[in-house]
Amino acid sequence: MRFPIERLSTKNILEIFACTKCGECTKYCFMCEIEFEKLSDPLGKLELMRKMISSQRGLRARIFGKKEIDETLYRDLMTHMYKCTICGQCQVVCPANIQTMETWEELRNALFVEEGLAPMEVHRPFITSIMDFNNPWQQSPGRRARWTRRLKFDIQKYPFESDVDVLFFVGCTASYDANIRGMALSTAELLHKAGVKFGILGEREICCGSTLLRVGAKREFREISEKNSRILNETNADIIVTACAGCFKTLRHDYPKFAPLDAEVVHAVQLINELSQDQKLQLPETGGRVTYHDPCHLGRHSGVYEPQRELISALGLELVEMERSKKMSRCCGAGAGVKSAFPDISSKASENRVKDAIRTGAELLLTSCPFCYQSLKLSSVKKGEIRTGDLLEFIAENLKK
Ligand code: SF4
Ligand code: SF4
Repeated sequence: MRFPIERLSTKNILEIFACTKCGECTKYCFMCEIEFEKLSDPLGKLELMRKMISSQRGLRARIFGKKEIDETLYRDLMTHMYKCTICGQCQVVCPANIQTMETWEELRNALFVEEGLAPMEVHRPFITSIMDFNNPWQQSPGRRARWTRRLKFDIQKYPFESDVDVLFFVGCTASYDANIRGMALSTAELLHKAGVKFGILGEREICCGSTLLRVGAKREFREISEKNSRILNETNADIIVTACAGCFKTLRHDYPKFAPLDAEVVHAVQLINELSQDQKLQLPETGGRVTYHDPCHLGRHSGVYEPQRELISALGLELVEMERSKKMSRCCGAGAGVKSAFPDISSKASENRVKDAIRTGAELLLTSCPFCYQSLKLSSVKKGEIRTGDLLEFIAENLKK
């Protein structure tokens, strides 16, 4: 078979050839700690792609003719390209400044999806469901706002009766998953308590499309992001807030490239911290020793590290950082389709992260992302030495005491 060079942008090719083989990425990639094979590490993948490109282009190819690519090796490369959460750790440590996050996403699309080989079988039902039902689990859009029945106050649903300042983008996981619903409830309760004029899209909310983009389904992502941005812009809200790190990264960093939004996109920890600092929300006094896991989408990808720590400190908690935190935070292993395609790798990654947390001696591991929370909670329950919680849920629960 041929390597589809024509599908790559000049930037993709430059990034692939910029690797100096220093091996820094291999040292820190969480995948390499779990399953080390030649193609597990970023360096191995880049090296193989470089060889494949050179065999079809360049001096040797011109003199001796283009060489066929071994299809088994190409498919092996694809499997390993999907054994990656696009956590961005390799980008942060790369001295050659290779923009691996964007590169991995684009290569999944160009080399495999466009060639009809991907997304993986296991990802296809999620994609179809997002396109048909506006969420990844074939749930009825009519049930999306059912969680609001548990609130003790009314929440405005679009179209709004009166103007709102803030649009709360709830996300699919917190809307439909009974174990995560607490994140939606606590965010809404905190905004209400602080007197924020806010509303939700309710039945009209559509999946942000993060999973689509991460697995390489770029065409579908474009369609979803355009639909979403049309309705989000219609609301005239100044701020869009979300408690999901995945929705946050997608709306804030990916939408501007596909379907720009008029409003400023913030994560709920940023807004709640501001409200607390402006004395609009009184935080409860608590105590105890906690540690904090920086979700990749919120931390490394977006640089949001301090609001969470300021909230923890304002709550009177002692924060003990894990050996790897902030931009070096070890990925929990749940993102970019890895959890559904390679569940064993994903659980091993979250177990490793829980071990990091246990080593701090903290009694509670806090985070701010439904996917990190789900994975870490499962592993912490298994280990039984530390509890896992969502930071805003912790605040809302303590306010009720
Ligand atoms: S993005 Fe994360 S999982 Fe993927 S290769 Fe880089 S460090 Fe490894
Ligand atoms: S850190 Fe960057 S330059 Fe070094 S091996 Fe990895 S990708 Fe190549």
